[in-house]
Amino acid sequence: MTVAGYLIGDVIMKNKLLKFASVLSLLLLTGMVQFASAQNRTVEAEAERISGDRFDIVTQTPMGASVYAIRQPNKEMLNAIDQGLTDLFAVARKNHYRKRLNYQDYTIYIGKPDRLRDSTGQYSPDIAVGAAQYAGSVYDQGGFIYAAGIVVALNPCAFLIAEHSKNYERVSNVVRYEGEHLVLYHNDRKRFAATMDHSKGGSHPILQ
Ligand SMILES: [Zn+2]
Repeated sequence: MTVAGYLIGDVIMKNKLLKFASVLSLLLLTGMVQFASAQNRTVEAEAERISGDRFDIVTQTPMGASVYAIRQPNKEMLNAIDQGLTDLFAVARKNHYRKRLNYQDYTIYIGKPDRLRDSTGQYSPDIAVGAAQYAGSVYDQGGFIYAAGIVVALNPCAFLIAEHSKNYERVSNVVRYEGEHLVLYHNDRKRFAATMDHSKGGSHPILQ
């Protein structure tokens, strides 16, 4: 199995939109059923590598999305994830996309934030990740960027967000935005490729 890492990662500025970068790791997976648990372990290892966290808690949102977390997520956090996915599926259907529009299709890793406030002092739990193609850009913090969300795997659909203790609408937004990359990957490969690297411009929401 080959794992090739490259970067996307979503940076939300000033609580609005948002310039994004997500770390997207392209996993070349065989897709065979008997490898499913090996795949899940690979995805989890990747989430741990990116975040430096251990995801010992395994749970689900009320709507059935899988959640791996560093500690038991509160109800607001889980509901905010469902809200983000609900918004994502609605706008995806509007664009006539049909694949991966079930809550069960998504795995969300909730990591420990590497900062709680952005440079303007606004509440902004984010995760520090290697700068990759964002090196030298306005997002570059000296070899790393602060990402609100990071795509961990395209198939299965998995992404990483930071734990929040308030401002849960921000969680819903980040979920929707990371999900946009995944919905596009499975429904419109060309548009996915054109929008995945925010260092070349573009931001969220991609789907209107
Ligand atoms: Zn993005």
